[in-house]
Amino acid sequence: MQYISTRNVGFQCSASQAIVQGLAKDGGLLTPFYIPKLPNKALEEMKSMAYQHRAVYIMKQFLEEFSVKELTDFANAAYGPEKFDTPAVAPVRTVDGNTHCLELWHGPTCAFKDMALQMLPHLLSASLVKTEEEKTACILVATSGDTGKGALEGFRDVPRTKILVFYPKDGVSEVQQLQMVTQEGSNVGVAAVYGNFDDAQTGVKRLFSDQELAKELADKGYFFSSANSINWGRVLPQIVYYISAYCDLLRDEKIESGQKVNVCVPTGNFGNILAAYYAREMGVPIDQLICASNSNNVLTDFIRTGVYDRNRDFYNTMSPSMDILISSNLERLLFALTQDTEEVKGYMKELAASGRYQVRDRIKEKLQQRFKGYFCNDKETQRVIREMYDNHGYLIDTHTAVAFSALEQYRKETGDETVCIVASTASPFKFCDSVLEALGETEIAQGLDALDQLAAKSGQPAPAPLSGLRDKQIRFTETVEKEHMVDAVWNMLG
Ligand SMILES: *Cc1c(COP(=O)(O)O)cnc(C)c1O
Repeated sequence: MQYISTRNVGFQCSASQAIVQGLAKDGGLLTPFYIPKLPNKALEEMKSMAYQHRAVYIMKQFLEEFSVKELTDFANAAYGPEKFDTPAVAPVRTVDGNTHCLELWHGPTCAFKDMALQMLPHLLSASLVKTEEEKTACILVATSGDTGKGALEGFRDVPRTKILVFYPKDGVSEVQQLQMVTQEGSNVGVAAVYGNFDDAQTGVKRLFSDQELAKELADKGYFFSSANSINWGRVLPQIVYYISAYCDLLRDEKIESGQKVNVCVPTGNFGNILAAYYAREMGVPIDQLICASNSNNVLTDFIRTGVYDRNRDFYNTMSPSMDILISSNLERLLFALTQDTEEVKGYMKELAASGRYQVRDRIKEKLQQRFKGYFCNDKETQRVIREMYDNHGYLIDTHTAVAFSALEQYRKETGDETVCIVASTASPFKFCDSVLEALGETEIAQGLDALDQLAAKSGQPAPAPLSGLRDKQIRFTETVEKEHMVDAVWNMLG
């Protein structure tokens, strides 16, 4: 299967090249030229398979150069019992007759990023061999919280890789910071940056584009690579869990063969919901894709008007992983809808120049046929957390609550009661403060003690990777000026 740049159909490469490169040289995203269809009966066949086996089956359709044996080893390592706290890996919890919650946070960092970041390092290591790249990949990540820890945990002690994470000194939660600075592994580095997330992100981009630095690195046997969600190796493992959820519902006789379902996803960079779209393209009977946003509702407006406009106020919300105004993976959807890389390139040029673009009417129609957009603010987020807990005894995090609000709005507006799979993207224990407040607590314990408070309040234990943070050694204390992030690179590489 060929991969192309979303900005140039003339550029073609293999899956392993796409995974090693991360981003096309022209700034486009490397994307399969077409989405393969699942064989007839595939869903029936996968019904009785374990998650790992389903992952092999699905990923193989996109990765011809990888053998089933290779992919099986990867899936067993990525989704094994040392990594995930349930053998189901991504279990589906039924909330009511037509609402099912797909829990994506049973991995080592308690957020859905694990589903892809546990797999990506295996794909990348093997791709280095297949592309005959001899240098070691030095993976740089700027993070506002979840991605950094997910990437560190995924790449720790992976041969021929080093990973360095930059986080804004005062821009992450206490739990998130502790998760990162206590990271174990011999190939990892973590540095705080004076400034906010944008400063860290801009600094990383500068390191990527520094040609002299690239030369120096090459002399020492390294090259920079990326683990953020523009890498195809992060989108692909996410397709698996939507198909897996459908198979679970079939297996448990909650739906019939061929029955249509909707999918609702709390969305930031558009990677997660894009994977659901691809699952549909592969032949899973998915009807509507409900895109849920917080007060940073640029996607809601785009879906409703066909105008993408990032020129607006930015809000820090209690669902911080969705605080984003440029949803990078939307570019892949634009290619899927237009099938025209010149058109995509035009839109992206406008976005870079003016922060805004408007798609053609025909594209808007296609978009609206498949996607529905809703958003909610923090107050509504907390109302949903509380009601979900009171009515169903189900504790959800702030991001997942935004999705449930969107689903409620969708059902009210359309009357469509089709079975819906809601993606649950983080453990509620990752956002203790907001969840406790939603449940009516007024005095909230400091730091990790909030984990105990939420455990006592809900009668559920905090996930082991979070409560275990107390016993971990702090390994990384370096803070760098944003102009001097390169120092952290040399500190790590020696
Ligand atoms: C990253 C993240 C999201 C947003 O996912 P995208 O793929 O960027 O749309 C939502 N919720 C949580 C908890 C996340 O960590």
